[in-house]
Amino acid sequence: MKIGRVIIDIASSLVDNVFDYLLPSEDISVGSRVLVPFGKITKEGYLIEITSNTEYDPSKLKTIISAIDTFPIIQPDQLELAKFMKRKFNTGMCDALRLFLPSELRLGRVKELVKTECFIKDETKAKEYLLTVRKNSLNQISAINYLLEHGSENLTILNKKFNSASIKKLINNEIISTKAVTVRRTPYKTYQDFCNNNITLTLTQQSVVDRITNENNVYLLHGVTGSGKTEVYMHCMQNMIDKNKTGIMLVPEISLTPQVLMNFRSRFGNNVAILHSGLSMGERFDEWQRILFGEAKIVIGARSAIFAPLKNIGLIVIDEEHDNSYNSDSNPRYSTIEVAKERARLSGASLVLGSATPSLVSYHNAMTGNYQLLEMKERINKKELPPLKIIDMGGEILSGNTGIFSNALKSALIKTVKEKNQAMLFINRRGFASFLMCKKCGWVAKCNDCDVSLVLHKYEKSLKCHYCGNRYKIFTECPECGNSELSTGAIGTERVVKELNELLPNVSVARMDNDTTKTKDAHLKILSDFRSGKTQILVGTQMIAKGHDFPSVTLVGIIDADVSLYQSSYSSSEQTFELITQVAGRAGRADKAGEIYLQTYVPRHYVYKLASFYDYTAFYKKEINLRQVTMYPPFTKIIRILFTSESEELAKEAARVYYEQVRNLQNQYEDSFVYLGVMRSPIGRIQNKYRLQILIRLKPNKEEEITKKLFELSSTIKKSNTTVFVEINPQNLS
Ligand code: ADP
Ligand code: ZN
Ligand code: ZN
Repeated sequence: MKIGRVIIDIASSLVDNVFDYLLPSEDISVGSRVLVPFGKITKEGYLIEITSNTEYDPSKLKTIISAIDTFPIIQPDQLELAKFMKRKFNTGMCDALRLFLPSELRLGRVKELVKTECFIKDETKAKEYLLTVRKNSLNQISAINYLLEHGSENLTILNKKFNSASIKKLINNEIISTKAVTVRRTPYKTYQDFCNNNITLTLTQQSVVDRITNENNVYLLHGVTGSGKTEVYMHCMQNMIDKNKTGIMLVPEISLTPQVLMNFRSRFGNNVAILHSGLSMGERFDEWQRILFGEAKIVIGARSAIFAPLKNIGLIVIDEEHDNSYNSDSNPRYSTIEVAKERARLSGASLVLGSATPSLVSYHNAMTGNYQLLEMKERINKKELPPLKIIDMGGEILSGNTGIFSNALKSALIKTVKEKNQAMLFINRRGFASFLMCKKCGWVAKCNDCDVSLVLHKYEKSLKCHYCGNRYKIFTECPECGNSELSTGAIGTERVVKELNELLPNVSVARMDNDTTKTKDAHLKILSDFRSGKTQILVGTQMIAKGHDFPSVTLVGIIDADVSLYQSSYSSSEQTFELITQVAGRAGRADKAGEIYLQTYVPRHYVYKLASFYDYTAFYKKEINLRQVTMYPPFTKIIRILFTSESEELAKEAARVYYEQVRNLQNQYEDSFVYLGVMRSPIGRIQNKYRLQILIRLKPNKEEEITKKLFELSSTIKKSNTTVFVEINPQNLS
């Protein structure tokens, strides 16, 4: 008797179990999708195991109806990875398995793109035809000559070039034959460029490449910006291809860093596939197929590319490994680095985490021997990193300047523009101002569905909620007291653009933030206009901080560095240090010297001091001591259990019941709990759902055991109308 164990494709924790079915007579392999009877209906599911025993009465088992795919589309190591995610992050099996498939495949919406290809059926016959055809049938004659020269061409293009009636005639006369061919859609076609492929590695680069290639391990590559990390990744990938292996290269945001993709394509051509949420459904489906069928051996993409259906992986690279986008903080929640470690382990691959500012946790892992540390301390061009000047904005006010630009930054902007160089201005807040407030009674415009103030967006003439997306009309007077004097909160990108336009009226300025990059390829346009010099100053959020290489940028201004320093997070110093280093790295990349102005109200803060010296190691030492004393990660693990419900009572009740159970656990594991508390979340309501949370900090000694129990608890207290999430080391605690 053969039993097939099936995960039903319903993303609900209530059905996230394995169901046993009898196997039909047809041959189905593990990893295939199947159709099964489920209750009174038919559902899709994943066949994850074939065994010969079952806990149930076999005579009562139903039989799998049929296979959906003719071959397994989930690989054995992917199945293992899904199980790992269930253990490690409490991910539902169905949620985990879905990560491996393009959603369009599951929903059966996209088709392969089929085009009609035309070619000359018989050359001799065609040449005879040329002699007999009337001299004024110019289109027919040209089309035949064109095909004789080019071999074949797509029907649509031929019709356009030579008019469809003539082509039709040629097809009817059997001069042209046609056949249907599947065409793979190529995403980011414009990301093709010729890059220098004949680079000789420096000694440092070579030794790093050798280490990575010759010994499977987890490496942390700490290399300053411009030290040639991308070149190292490409050489390692080449070595893998030579060994007939494959590789994954993760980048935080591919549309923001086209250079990486261009470099890889220039070197590896069609061997590169890209997986990214910004692709069209068809593009994504085709790239996924190219990977699955072994047509592409290197996958580049954002975090979800770690789930690519590659076989025989030899290398996984996570570039800018400190980046927050590697943590998925909505369902399914996972840490990409942890998933990558497991995938590398399962496939016997090397994992390389690369960054100029590694996360504290990763660097600590390297210091304690969990990772192998590789260092590249010099820039390829041997240039010093550009000088970073800290500007005291308090002092500016005292000297009578209350504007958003310090006098020093103003002069630097004017000078940059005059010398026909480019500048980037960074402000980590989008919109015009962070809130709108009545000067008389203190009323603040708030979202109806979330407990947050609304952000003023003058350009779109609305007040927007950054948590749920709701939009409201801009108030011109206070709805409480009728006063028409309203004040605005801290400045955002729109305001910076406005002030720039006033300071430098004839200079073209572009703004890059979530609002200006909503449409497909909008990033591309902004970046290419800036690269070509069409715009001279680029204002933006952290989108402009990442990996760009603009040779003419000589000035970088950080308008309000304190935004990130004063977030209420244990890691805000770390994030600020990273951000400054990344932004600063945009200046003076090529021959021209660059400079950075950092505006702050706390000019003596150690984060700014150390960032201005680019002293990562000193920063690490200081910060890691602090974490040890205060018992924060990596010395503890933070667990947040989040309860959300439309009813505040229900959310509170669920939190209370859970909390009691956690108290029992705390008694049982007294010396593992550093902290336990239950509270309203910092943002008490989002999208009309009330939010409460239990916060826990655990010492490493028994954390896995305790985490497992917490996961189990969360499944026992499942109630309708309340959602429970267990989050491990969440970055975002709002
Ligand atoms: P990183 O990713 O560390 O910031 P990149 O890989 O972008 O650095 O390298 C910076 C620049 O140096 C790039 O323009 C790259 O082409 C160039 N480069 C890298 N390695 C070499 C080398 N060995 N010889 C010459 N140029 C190199
Ligand atoms: Zn008022
Ligand atoms: Zn809202």
